[in-house]
Amino acid sequence: MNLSERNTTPNKDEQKDIKLVYTQMERCRRCYTCVRECPAKAIRIEGGQAEVIQERCIACGNCVKVCSQDAKVFHRDTEALDHLLKSDQEVAAIIAPAFPAEFMTLPKHQTFVGMIRGLGFDYVNEVAFGADLIANKFKELIEKKGHRKYISADCPAIVSFIEKYHPHLVQFLAPIVSPMVATARVLRKKHGNHLKVVFVGPCIAKKNESSEIDMAITFRELREMLEHKMVTPGNTTPSGFDPPLSGKGAIFPVSRGLIQAVNLDDDVSRGDIIVAEGRENFQEAIREFESGLIRQEHLELLCCEGCIMGAGMTSSVNRYAKRSFIKNYVKSKLNLINTKQWEKEMEEYLKLDLSLNFKENDQRLALPSRENIQNALKNMGKYDPKDHLNCGACGYDTCEEHAIAICKGLAETEMCLPHTIESLHNSVEKLNVSNQKLESTRQALKQSEKMASMGQLSAGIAHELNNPLGVVIMYANILLEEMAQKEDVSEDLKLIVEQADRCKRIVSGLLNFARKNQVSYTEVNVEELARQSIQSIIVPQNVKAIIECNTSNKEAELDEEQMLQVLSNLSKNAIEAMPDGGKLTIRIEEDKDHVVFLVIDTGEGIPPENMDKIFEPFFTTKGIGKGTGLGLATIYGIAKMHNGQITVESNSLPEKGPTGTTFKVRLPRYAGKTEEK
Ligand code: ADP
Ligand code: MG
Repeated sequence: MNLSERNTTPNKDEQKDIKLVYTQMERCRRCYTCVRECPAKAIRIEGGQAEVIQERCIACGNCVKVCSQDAKVFHRDTEALDHLLKSDQEVAAIIAPAFPAEFMTLPKHQTFVGMIRGLGFDYVNEVAFGADLIANKFKELIEKKGHRKYISADCPAIVSFIEKYHPHLVQFLAPIVSPMVATARVLRKKHGNHLKVVFVGPCIAKKNESSEIDMAITFRELREMLEHKMVTPGNTTPSGFDPPLSGKGAIFPVSRGLIQAVNLDDDVSRGDIIVAEGRENFQEAIREFESGLIRQEHLELLCCEGCIMGAGMTSSVNRYAKRSFIKNYVKSKLNLINTKQWEKEMEEYLKLDLSLNFKENDQRLALPSRENIQNALKNMGKYDPKDHLNCGACGYDTCEEHAIAICKGLAETEMCLPHTIESLHNSVEKLNVSNQKLESTRQALKQSEKMASMGQLSAGIAHELNNPLGVVIMYANILLEEMAQKEDVSEDLKLIVEQADRCKRIVSGLLNFARKNQVSYTEVNVEELARQSIQSIIVPQNVKAIIECNTSNKEAELDEEQMLQVLSNLSKNAIEAMPDGGKLTIRIEEDKDHVVFLVIDTGEGIPPENMDKIFEPFFTTKGIGKGTGLGLATIYGIAKMHNGQITVESNSLPEKGPTGTTFKVRLPRYAGKTEEK
């Protein structure tokens, strides 16, 4: 047969554009299971999403099998097949020997074949006959005395894996076509080159294996078609496979199938074939073969744990039941086999050219430099070998492998779960701290806005009252002088002067609060200032007043009179908060270029609900005639006028009881040097 005449489907190179296995991004959920399961490490994580790199993919379909979200899908050919079957071309379905494991519920294989014909195929053949031929060729090959050892080439995912990742082992691949291609060659010999051949089986990788196959569909797709076309055992006529019929080749899809098919010596002491199946085992066998450890043995490698576990099967459970279905099928088949006929057909088709050469397709990525790997590890918080948890959550077996994959552009730092959890933890903590800061800034802003608007009001009132009050005081004093000898009138006038003076003090307090007074800075000794403030008030017997000066430099530029007012007002308040006695401390400290006055008492404390009201003018808890509520308002204004700050700490909580109060006044040591709002 002249294969070059055949040009029905795109060849391997032309098929590069078809994405055989790909991700449905909206379903991908950052579990990295596909990374772990991919023997080719053909999955790139970008922005947390797993994308299949087509040129690296060997189409084994492991990722399709393991993705719990069905985010990994494979290319469907059902529509194209439907089209082909509707055309007037002659089409043969060649059925992989794994079919009894997929259609376990069908009573006999004739029911299944009848349904396939029901879809519109002209011929339904067994790939198992191709397997018979290949087993024979393989036997011939390895029995040639003195010849080198071979790796079987019947699994397309294995062939692709070797071509891409162990290209120098390509020379060891048995130069024989797969059972699928052998069957296609047989049928074209029998029916002519015009025949369209469609493979039906458990394998996704078959779709990309050979240009001699017009189409390859999986059992999953077959089921979709049967369902869609409503083809059932009830509306189809059972029939047998078309000749040539197979022999033992039907055992191919279970592990050691090839060996059994050709009766090769599998005895441990004498045999020289190693069978390795499944993602981890086949890689280990290749590594050992590559290192020369097992060069005395042939390798029979399968990417899945037998073709019965292929990704094109509808389910990946009941592995042993599947094996037993295949065995029973083969048993019943061998009972019925017309050996003479089989031998005749074998002889005829063994004359066919069943050879194939493989090409290297190197997809290995260069190993990154040690320095780059170390940097990638550091970015994951791994500075030391003991930081390598090797937990496998990222999909790579070790932290080192993960780091290498990052350098190769296949993985991301965020895939490291322990590192991500830790940094998330840190971010949450930072966020909490900044939230707290934000909240206290918001509170402070609210408070200062309130104080500012109160200040404006107070300034207005004080300003308007100041002048008429001055006139009242002046004329009251003149009258008092003139009426000094008239006792009855002068007593009344004294009262007017006294009360008007009181009003004057209130107005002055308000002006202080509104920061409308002038600050006249002079050099003062802060310790001396504190002493004077205590002397200017009456300290009861049961209160112990002390002054602690913890500054090396006692000089500061302040408005002496105003600051005297501040300290004596705070001390007065402190004493009033300790009706049963206690301790009053005025402590002076320094902080960079600031002096800090602390007035500490052991009194009743301030309830939390009053905390943001105490600086308001006229807020008092002391009852009519006792407090004016102007003390702290005045102090607040004076502190601000000095470009300073006043804060208070008090913990009077019902459950804690009185714990005392500390007022803290922080002022720039030198006039107007620092600005604090
Ligand atoms: P007044 O002393 O006239 O009441 P202030 O402005 O000086 O006005 O104080 C306002 C309020 O703040 C007081 O009535 C009191 O409730 C509270 N306060 C001030 N200082 C203290 C303190 N050291 N301990 C407890 N409460 C205080
Ligand atoms: Mg007061």
